[in-house]
Amino acid sequence: MLSKCAICGGTSFKRVVRRSTWAIWACIDCTNAFTFPAPANDLQYDDHAFFKISDDKEIRWRQGAAEIIGLVTGAGCRGTFLDVGFGNGFLIEEALSAGFDAQGIEASHSAVESARQRGLRVQEGYLQQGSFADSVFDIVAMNHVLEHSADPEAMLRIARDLVKPGGYLFLGQTNYFGTIPHLLGTRWYGWVPSEHYTHFSIAGLTLLLKKAGFEVSVVWQSPLFWDWINFSRTPLARWPSTALNNLAVVITRAKIGIPFVPDGFFVLARKSESLSEI
Ligand SMILES: [Zn+2]
Repeated sequence: MLSKCAICGGTSFKRVVRRSTWAIWACIDCTNAFTFPAPANDLQYDDHAFFKISDDKEIRWRQGAAEIIGLVTGAGCRGTFLDVGFGNGFLIEEALSAGFDAQGIEASHSAVESARQRGLRVQEGYLQQGSFADSVFDIVAMNHVLEHSADPEAMLRIARDLVKPGGYLFLGQTNYFGTIPHLLGTRWYGWVPSEHYTHFSIAGLTLLLKKAGFEVSVVWQSPLFWDWINFSRTPLARWPSTALNNLAVVITRAKIGIPFVPDGFFVLARKSESLSEI
């Protein structure tokens, strides 16, 4: 059982979902949720092969990266860009296409090799191992990365040091408050209990960002993932979640007014002037 919330210090929890080997518990006070038992190790990504995906998946993932770059440029971000945990590297490539001076850091050796072969400027390792000068980036991005850290506040503080005064942090997160997690329960693909320590709520992440020296500027809610059912390739067990995903995307994009909460969100947060102000 969890005894104390690592983010707000709260001591009351309620169970969100439970399976025989894992459960998700939410802090009543800050509404962030936690995997119990916690993943065994947060330094488990050296051998991950992020870039080996099918061609049709690659097209969609690149579209997702382009959408993110569209959001941050729309919010006025320009200049130097660091992608932390860049995985397939598509976000770096989209950032470069949009005129950013973009680079990345990633623990997966094979992902780093792939990025280097494509001519991208990258470092291999975890964020705390990176060799970057302080205050050099206009924007630091972590897309579906923070939930993989055993100590997200420490990770955010490292990111804060790298961001220029007045610069930004961009985060992509799952949202367990979404309609789909409520419908799918433990079958929701966003839990990933072997890797995700924290399941942030928008309010809970806003609180953590404040503690780490950021002020939230914009929040965009967005479905996490979608994938049209390919009847010849999709296992039967995945049809309900895939169909729900597609429905979610259609409802969200058509803006037809059905009460529906997407299962993901993006946050753009500005570096606070000084830590003493928080
Ligand atoms: Zn809490």
